[in-house]
Amino acid sequence: MFRGVDYMLVDSLFNEEELLVRQAARQFVDERVIPLMRDCYREARFPRELIPEMGRMGFLGANLTGFGGAEMGNVEYGLVMQELERGDSGVRSFASVQGALVMYPIVTFGSEEQKRRWLPRLASGEAVGCFGLTEPDFGSNPAGMRTSARQDGAAWVLNGEKTWITNGTLADVAVVWARTPEGIRGFLVEKGTPGYSASDIHGKWSMRASVTSSLAMADCRVPAESLLPGARGLKAALMCLTQARYSIGWGVIGAAMDCYETARQYTIVRKQFRDRPIASHQLVQEKLAWMITEITKAQLMALHTGRLKDQGRLEAAHVSMLKRNNAAMALETARLARDLLGANGITDEYPIMRHLCNLETVKTYEGTDHIHTLVIGERVTGIAAYE
Ligand SMILES: Cc1cc2nc3c(=O)[nH]c(=O)nc-3n(C[C@H](O)[C@H](O)[C@H](O)COP(=O)(O)OP(=O)(O)OC[C@H]3O[C@@H](n4cnc5c(N)ncnc54)[C@H](O)[C@@H]3O)c2cc1C
Repeated sequence: MFRGVDYMLVDSLFNEEELLVRQAARQFVDERVIPLMRDCYREARFPRELIPEMGRMGFLGANLTGFGGAEMGNVEYGLVMQELERGDSGVRSFASVQGALVMYPIVTFGSEEQKRRWLPRLASGEAVGCFGLTEPDFGSNPAGMRTSARQDGAAWVLNGEKTWITNGTLADVAVVWARTPEGIRGFLVEKGTPGYSASDIHGKWSMRASVTSSLAMADCRVPAESLLPGARGLKAALMCLTQARYSIGWGVIGAAMDCYETARQYTIVRKQFRDRPIASHQLVQEKLAWMITEITKAQLMALHTGRLKDQGRLEAAHVSMLKRNNAAMALETARLARDLLGANGITDEYPIMRHLCNLETVKTYEGTDHIHTLVIGERVTGIAAYE
């Protein structure tokens, strides 16, 4: 079993339940996820068979309350995300979308009927959800969205297109954000609704083991009960993104740990120049030292944000720093690890190149590195450099 990466006794800061949850997730990833990922990545296949298993493990919507789920604390939930992404960013993305972007809005903005209908099935993995915010012409700036919803009698009629939607063609229900005369609102659109369709995006060299789709709504008529009653304005969608970004801030630590540990072990065994391990060369040690230092800093920031979240004191600008720092840290760790494996680093005999390619997406989605930089800039100057 994976031994973990703990340079500065960070484990001593977790309580017993947190360590137990991590242990369960670690074992699940070692036994069920990692053995599948190389082939899934080659075949560009999301391992759907893991969905009910993740449901049974309580990983879906794990930190949400009120529907009989796992009701984990935010640090336990973060540790689950870390382990899942040690397996693959696509598997963690599935769980992040299902929990933070589909179950969270239903818990927070949904009617009692919507909660009853969807939450138990989404938690068990019997149903899958997706979150449609991004459009072909509006990524970093979703406020410009063109997807519209107008009322027609008791029904709503949706028109527009969403793209880059994780889980899109798998989804039984899509949380779709659309412009209405009263501002942006969220809708639950069910698979099979006339006028609604989803199709997959192919040709990805990143997140190959994740389903990414486009959604089209052409005079798609949904009943009045599809509106999420509490979701008013873009702020509601951004609240969901804050939840998902929190899970990314933890998840990427897992990918970084896998890259670092693979490189550390490799450099101790691989010999070059006078039969000495490459780990004995100072330039190699410098890279390992950088990686473990940055991983340790990322662990501490994730843990602190988790404690703040449990106390209700975590702010969106804090999460921007977590997501930006930890995603950049993981991407650079993957690049350095790839370098240390030399030619072997480019093959899928090792997980590094897969993590590296995935992390390029993680840098971009859920707010690009630039956008989180501007959020932090606004926070410290009081001046927004973007609208
Ligand atoms: C695999 C994958 C899965 C995804 N899953 C989902 C999903 O489930 N649901 C969903 O809604 N979306 C999803 N997305 C979309 C993702 O959130 C967007 O790609 C992201 O928000 C960036 O938008 P964009 O790709 O249109 O890039 P753009 O917004 O066009 O940005 C391109 C570049 O311009 C920079 N830029 C833009 N504006 C500024 C500015 N003001 N200042 C400085 N730099 C700027 C960006 O930082 C970036 O470097 C996914 C994306 C990928 C790749």
